[in-house]
Amino acid sequence: MDRQQEFVLRTLEERDIRFVRLWFTDVSGYLKAVAVAPAEIEAAFAEGIGFDGSAIEGFARVYESDMLAKPDPATFQVMPGSRGQASETARMFCDITLPDGSPAWADPRHVLRRALGKAADMGFTFYTHPEIEFFLLKDLPSDGTPPEPADVGGYFDLSTHNVAHDFRREAVFALEAMGISVEFSHHEVAPGQQEIDLRYADALSMADNIMTLRHVVREVALAQGVHATFMPKPFTELAGSAMHTHLSLFEGDRNAFHDPADPMRLSTTGKQFIAGLLTHAREMTAVTNQTVNSYRRLLAGTEAPTAATWGRANRSALVRLPSYKPNKGNSARVEVRSPDSACNPYLTFAVLLAAGLRGIEKGYELPPEAEDDVWSLTDTERRAAGYEDLPVSLGEALTAMQGSELVAETLGEHVFDFFLRNKWEEFNSYRQNVTPFELKRYLPGL
Ligand code: GLU
Ligand code: MG
Ligand code: MG
Repeated sequence: MDRQQEFVLRTLEERDIRFVRLWFTDVSGYLKAVAVAPAEIEAAFAEGIGFDGSAIEGFARVYESDMLAKPDPATFQVMPGSRGQASETARMFCDITLPDGSPAWADPRHVLRRALGKAADMGFTFYTHPEIEFFLLKDLPSDGTPPEPADVGGYFDLSTHNVAHDFRREAVFALEAMGISVEFSHHEVAPGQQEIDLRYADALSMADNIMTLRHVVREVALAQGVHATFMPKPFTELAGSAMHTHLSLFEGDRNAFHDPADPMRLSTTGKQFIAGLLTHAREMTAVTNQTVNSYRRLLAGTEAPTAATWGRANRSALVRLPSYKPNKGNSARVEVRSPDSACNPYLTFAVLLAAGLRGIEKGYELPPEAEDDVWSLTDTERRAAGYEDLPVSLGEALTAMQGSELVAETLGEHVFDFFLRNKWEEFNSYRQNVTPFELKRYLPGL
């Protein structure tokens, strides 16, 4: 047993933990959990906990369904108790293996680990920090009735005695108690819309943190009598929920995107990385924006990107270069603005990293900066400037992904095939539906 495993066993005893939840994420990005008694954890470290992989979305075909969940002791955290009370529950994320101990290809954590391994071979570690937007709603109707925002606030609004304010305080407490550092939290532009920004961490820990945040946010919301949703665009008239993500590569303790001699203080590596993100943007969109609903957000006018462009202060661009103080070279980073809050963070980080690394490997040239407000350009103007539009529907995004050798290689054959099959089915069942929009528009006049 290693030291981390020993630490977990000791903590279980000292803190009198009764339940250990073992967490993992399916290919579609849903969190799965099995609760085990503390007495089982030693065996779980040694052998894993067996489960039927064919019952989990995207994991296995029925004939090879036996799988093992092996808890990663580095992710051990005691769950926050109710205010002032000791918690009885802890959790760990798991790696999924086959019975022979080899990693399961379908495990999103494994997909990200492989992409990180490739970065390590090139001498890089990969850090991310997400800005996570979501809505607080009064209810979560499942019959298609429009939801109601839980408050009437707007961007950076501070009103005491309202649910959003208490909610953010409680959510930040709970996250910090689980070792997840929150950098900012504020009300976003739309009524009911909140944002929580996490302090940067290595990409694997961050993907775990995002899954944890989604769970914690839902729980805290319920405790306050409201409901949280990470659906990308719940309201036709209001902004959607993005998960802008800041990315950086480090070589040892040196930020590889920083170059004090460059007018933008951006290194060649950083430029090639951005060029990689732009070149492969269309192929990756089905992963960063994986629902039918995601494409209602990627429209002009609500601060969401619509074309593969980059810019410094430009908020209509897909990739933005945030400014940083000259003496803080390690803060150099690029912000990708397409991902939405419903993405699978493991797969999203894997494809973003792979695209950036491809740019470095092949020495891609950074295209000129988009200085204009990309949203206000006509189709012809965008084409003349060489801006490639992002897919406008899940169907178009899947078609682009289908032809992508980069995404196939990064996700691995199993996840790539499953993802496409699963998402085509989602898109096709959506296509069959006659919507209220169509009835209103066509029925009376046609
Ligand atoms: N909610 C906006 C979007 O869907 C982003 C707002 C912001 O810039 O933080 O992309
Ligand atoms: Mg925001
Ligand atoms: Mg942002």
